[in-house]
Amino acid sequence: MTDKYVTRCPYCGGSEIITTCQTAYGAVTNAESILHSAELYHSVCRNCGSVLRSFVKDPEKLLKKKDRKPKDDIF
Ligand SMILES: [Zn+2]
Repeated sequence: MTDKYVTRCPYCGGSEIITTCQTAYGAVTNAESILHSAELYHSVCRNCGSVLRSFVKDPEKLLKKKDRKPKDDIF
């Protein structure tokens, strides 16, 4: 998996970006409900090791089911 938003390191100019996945205890959870969590991904520069971006793949997972956007827009 590559990060389409980060292709070049702003610190050292390196273009080899590694996407890492932080799971289990490193997962981020909704502040109101620890039952809703998502794996945290980091884009790391291979050259200097800077973490360029941290993100979750599916932010909707952090919300309660009733608060999630419907997958298909029916309107
Ligand atoms: Zn770098």
